[in-house]
Parts: sequence; C-alpha cells; structure tokens
Amino acid sequence: MKLVLVLGDQLTPEIAALQRADKSRDLVVMAEVGAEAEYVPHHPKKIAIVLAAMRKFAERLRGDGWQVAYTRLDDPQNAGSIPGEILRRASETGATRVLATIPGEWRLIEALESVPLGIEMVEDDRFIASHADFENWADGRKQLRMEYFYREMRRRTGLLMEEGAPAGGKWNYDHDNRKPAKDDLFLPQPLRFEPDAVVEEVLDLVESRFGANFGDLRPFGMATDHAEAEAVLEHFIETALPSFGDCQDAMLSGRPFLYHSLISAYLNIGLLHPLDVCQKAEAAWESGHAPLNAVEGFIRQIIGWREFVRGIYFREGADYVQVNRLGHGRNLPALYWGARTDMKCLSEAVAQTREEAYAHHIQRLMVTGNFGLIAGVDPSQLHEWYLAVYADAFEWVEAPNTLGMSQFADGGLFATKPYISSGNYIDRMSDYCGACHYSVKTKQGEGACPFNLLYWHFLDRHRDRFSANPRMGQMYRTWDRMEPQRRDTILREAEAFLSRLDAGEAV
Ligand code: FAD
Ligand code: SF4
Repeated sequence: MKLVLVLGDQLTPEIAALQRADKSRDLVVMAEVGAEAEYVPHHPKKIAIVLAAMRKFAERLRGDGWQVAYTRLDDPQNAGSIPGEILRRASETGATRVLATIPGEWRLIEALESVPLGIEMVEDDRFIASHADFENWADGRKQLRMEYFYREMRRRTGLLMEEGAPAGGKWNYDHDNRKPAKDDLFLPQPLRFEPDAVVEEVLDLVESRFGANFGDLRPFGMATDHAEAEAVLEHFIETALPSFGDCQDAMLSGRPFLYHSLISAYLNIGLLHPLDVCQKAEAAWESGHAPLNAVEGFIRQIIGWREFVRGIYFREGADYVQVNRLGHGRNLPALYWGARTDMKCLSEAVAQTREEAYAHHIQRLMVTGNFGLIAGVDPSQLHEWYLAVYADAFEWVEAPNTLGMSQFADGGLFATKPYISSGNYIDRMSDYCGACHYSVKTKQGEGACPFNLLYWHFLDRHRDRFSANPRMGQMYRTWDRMEPQRRDTILREAEAFLSRLDAGEAV
C-alpha cells in the first residue's frame, strides 16, 4: 500500500500519480494546509476556489472508488504542511512509500524531497511539452523565442494545421489583434455560479482565517468543479471568442473581462485540459463561428505562451525567482494594495484585482507591470504581489511572466526588449485617460501623466544596457533630439514623483 499525493492544483482524474496507483490498495492523500495558504497573502477568492475545488474533487474520487484521506484546514490534527501531512498519514497507516505528481513549483518539490520516506515523483503530463521536450527544443539555441516554440507545438498537436502548413497561410495573426474596444450593451457577461453548500462552508472558513488579506471574498461566483469549468469554457466560445482577437489588448473602465476566457485558474488547478480547450476553440473556427485571427490568438496563448513559460521556469531552476538584472530596489508602492492613487489606469486595475482576483494580460503587463518597471520596483516584491492577488497565480506560470516578460529582471532571457510605454499606449488601448486626474497629452509640467515622465527616466537610467538594442534605438534617438533643458525637466519631475511615491503620498 502506498500514499498517493494529490495537490490543490492537481485536480484532474487522469493526473499522473493516480494513473499509476491502485484503487483497491492505495490511499489518496489530500490536505488543506496552512503552509500553502499562507506563504504569500493570497487573495481570499484564490484560497476559496482551491479549497472548494479540492473538497469536490475528493468527493468525486471517493465516488470513483478511491480511498481518500482528506484533511481540512481547521482539522485540529492538521500538521500544517504537505510533508507534515504525508508523515502523519504514513504513521497512521504504516505506509512507507509515496507516489506524487511533480509539483508546479521548486519550493514544494524541495519540500517533498525532504520527506524521509520513499517518494516517487512522476512527471505531470497535463502539458503538451514535457520537460525533456522543452530542453530538447531550447538546447543549443542562442535565443529562446516563444514564436518558434509555438510553431513546434502547432505541428505537434496539428491544431490549425492544413497539410503541414498553418491554416490561412500564416502562423500568427497578431497584427489584426490590436484594436480598442467599444463599450456597449452587447459585451459578453461572465458566467457565474451560486455558491452551493460546499462552497458556502469554504467561504465561511476563508472569511474567518483570511478575511484580512487583500481582496473581496464575496460575491463569489467562480467554477469549482469540472462541469462548471466546462460551462465557463463553452460560454466563452459561444459569446466572446469571435471577438477575442480583435479586442485582446483593449481595456475599458468597469469592464474587467471584455472578451477574455477567464479560464486560467481552471486550467491551472486541473479543472480544464489545455489540449481539449484548444480543440474546442479550433472547432469553433471550423464551424465558421469564430474567425481565424481570434482562434489562432487564443490557441497561441495556451499552447504557445503557457507551455513556453513553464519550460522557462523549470529550465532556469529554483533561483529564477531571485533574478534582478536591472538592479531595481524600490519598495512596492502602497497603491498596489489599494492605497489611493489618482492614476485612473492603476486604480482601475487594482480595484478589479481586489474585487475579482482577476486582471487580463494587458492590464498585468502594460499597467501594473509597466508602472513597476519604469518606477524601478524590486521585482521580487512584484513577484510576490502577482503571486498573491490573482486566482490563477501559481509560480511556474506567474514567475516567468512577472520576472521575465514584465520586469526584464532576467536580463532578456526571452523578451527582446522591456515592455515599457508612456501613457500613449494606455490611451490608445483604453478609455482610462479621459477620466484621469492626469493628462496623457501633457509630457511635462503641471498634470503630466506619470507614465510619460517615468518612461524617459527608465530609458535614461538604463542607457548603458539598452541604447544598443536595435529595437530601442528609435526611443533613444527621440530622447536625444529633445532640448537638454526639456530632458532635465522631465527627469527632475520624474524624481519628484518617485520621492512622493516613496514617501507614501497618494500620487
Ligand atoms: P485569456 O486572455 O482568455 O487567454 C487564454 C488563456 O491563455 C489563459 O487562460 C491562459 O491560460 C493562457 N495565457 C494567456 N497569456 C498567457 C501567458 N502570458 N502565460 C501563460 N498563459 C497565458 N497567467 C496565469 O495563468 N497565472 C499567473 O499567475 C499569471 N501571472 C501573470 C503575471 C504577469 C505580470 C503577466 C503579464 C501575465 C500573467 N499571466 C498569468 C498571463 C495572463 O495574464 C493570464 O493567463 C490571463 O490574463 C488569464 O486570463 P484569461 O483566462 O481570461 O486569459
Ligand atoms: Fe494612466 Fe496616464 Fe492615462 Fe492617467 S493619463 S490613466 S496615469 S496613462
């Protein structure tokens, strides 16, 4: 008899460890533990979805004939950590062997390796590329570019392929996907679920233990089992996928979801399978329901970016989370935790993060990420923030997105240039600026948009690193052509803004 560990983000009936276990003899171990719930101050909605989905999954396994030893967070016997729970169950049952699916973060892998029992860890095969596949693809390449990896994944899965060539003749339709969105009555509404008794019980527990964490627990309408997650996917395909491409980068006040799928948390905890999701999206294109630019863009995020960043995380190893190549050391400004700010784009992104534990990609990259980068915020503090506040945040996917893509803290391992922008980009892609205290058209002086000041401040302080970058030459030429006096004023005003930020003033 062995113990079969199933973690809170491994809620898939076909998870590798269960496939190798024997229902008639082995004991499934699942545990809600303080160590996992508290290592960063997770958003209450994130804790709630994981606990509720775990409880429902345990019931499903029991219904399928498994023996499950399940520990609740408030169980007085709870050992408080995954290794502690394994040891407790081992001493109760006399088991000496443990079967686990490799966890999605180094911290937990190392914790399992320290358990003084025979632990066998098998690869998590819910991904299209295994660790070895990614290594084989990456080895010997001078640069790791998602686009080339993505093409491999297209060939391998056959998604959107016609006789060995990409459907429509192009691999990538991104240039069609940069349109702002119009606010109208026909924007799709997300599918929500009324909490059932299991969810209500979890909400009460989370409220009592984690009610002080940043984030609104209620109203709670997230999916917590496979059927509900499947319904969210179908609803997205039906109502939003056709416009997903066009409006992928758009942002609108009070409209946090636009045409996004809202499935990342479900994919990441195992309620949906990436290949299945992509095949359903592909079928929507084949049936004429959704255009190619939308379906290609959507599939690229999943078999491209999602698989790619996972490859990076595991290739780089446990130290990746400490990278800080730009030497940024500013403390995370209080506005990230909801302190008042007059910057409409940031207040909007943070407010919806607080309410929904959700922000879409461009809000994470070009609003909160962009601001953190040009303001020179310590990337490890941003990493902890992103890991805490989003319902879909698990380190293997969050860390490369934050440290690599958004903060350039790994020195450009896979990003060719830092994702920075002045206020212009935000103005083009959103309706935020019109309602902002600052003026996006003002580049310096009274009311100038802080993004306009900090953008040049960033370029100026990192000139040695970036001026030779061919993709950034134009930015430096523009800066150099400005009157010296104007440059001095911008830098002085940026410094003054950063001092106010550091002093904790509302900016
Ligand atoms: P959609 O826009 O509908 O996209 C469809 C799916 O594609 C997503 O559900 C997701 O699974 C996948 N996807 C899209 N972009 C990415 C990407 N860059 N990397 C990996 N998968 C992607 N995603 C997470 O799942 N967890 C995180 O912790 C996370 N942290 C991020 C931090 C930063 C700083 C940035 C810039 C991005 C982060 N992302 C993260 C990627 C992306 O923002 C989210 O996957 C997406 O916003 C989830 O919303 P959605 O399901 O509506 O996605
Ligand atoms: Fe953000 Fe600047 Fe626009 Fe205000 S003016 S919303 S700070 S980009």
